[in-house]
Amino acid sequence: MKKKKKIYEGKAKVIYTTEKANQVIQHFKDEATAFNAKKMEIIEGKGVLNNFLSEFFMEKLNNIGIPTHFIKRLNMREQLIERCEIIPLEVVVRNIAAGSLSKRLGITEGQKLPRPIVEFYLKNDDLNDPLVTESQIVTFDWVSEAELSEIFELALRTNDFLCGLLAGVNLTLVDFKIEIGRSLKYSGEKLVIADEISPDTCRLWDTKTKERLDKDVFRLEQGSLSEAYTEVANRFDLLPKNEKSAVK
Ligand code: UDP
Repeated sequence: MKKKKKIYEGKAKVIYTTEKANQVIQHFKDEATAFNAKKMEIIEGKGVLNNFLSEFFMEKLNNIGIPTHFIKRLNMREQLIERCEIIPLEVVVRNIAAGSLSKRLGITEGQKLPRPIVEFYLKNDDLNDPLVTESQIVTFDWVSEAELSEIFELALRTNDFLCGLLAGVNLTLVDFKIEIGRSLKYSGEKLVIADEISPDTCRLWDTKTKERLDKDVFRLEQGSLSEAYTEVANRFDLLPKNEKSAVK
């Protein structure tokens, strides 16, 4: 599958058209950003790690009937995905208090939540991605009521599945963010998980030591981000044999 035209470039990824109207190529860059891109650094190998990790999670979700945009990985940094219209919401699911939830509500970081919390943020850098309510979402027609309940179901099923998968390698899924797309293959009628699922978009703690193995390592300057992501990939044995120690 050949890349044709660049149609989008974000902080961590680039999207190219292909000869098929409903399929695009997603290229993972090495840029790491945090705090609405106020902090930025090139982390050599991050794009490769996230390409392999996102492939792994998305393929597993596809296999159990949770639809995602993922079709196949093409090479070290690129994957073929279904073209979607991205819904302008970040959907966050939390199992343990951390990050903005702890800050906003004063809940001790690390406290287990009695049940998962689903939150929605409007994707708008100028407004700093504000938290929005379900009522606002439907009133402003960002999604329909039927889509909103489907998104809840997708988010919670994804959470259950990923929690179990990660627990199997002694990782705790503290929280994560997903983006949802309307797949153009189904004329926008079908919702799929889009973007990426990786340590850039999840909080992952080692279950025993509570060591952070996600983007907080970069946000909080707690060590090597590529070593943390490589550790996650190695727990699932994802990397080609010669890439296990230092992904470039
Ligand atoms: N997250 C993300 N992109 C964002 C904001 C959050 O991937 O633009 C992820 C983040 O990595 C964490 C979860 O969503 O796993 C919840 O993030 P939180 O609201 O605590 O915000 P943060 O503390 O990251 O600012």
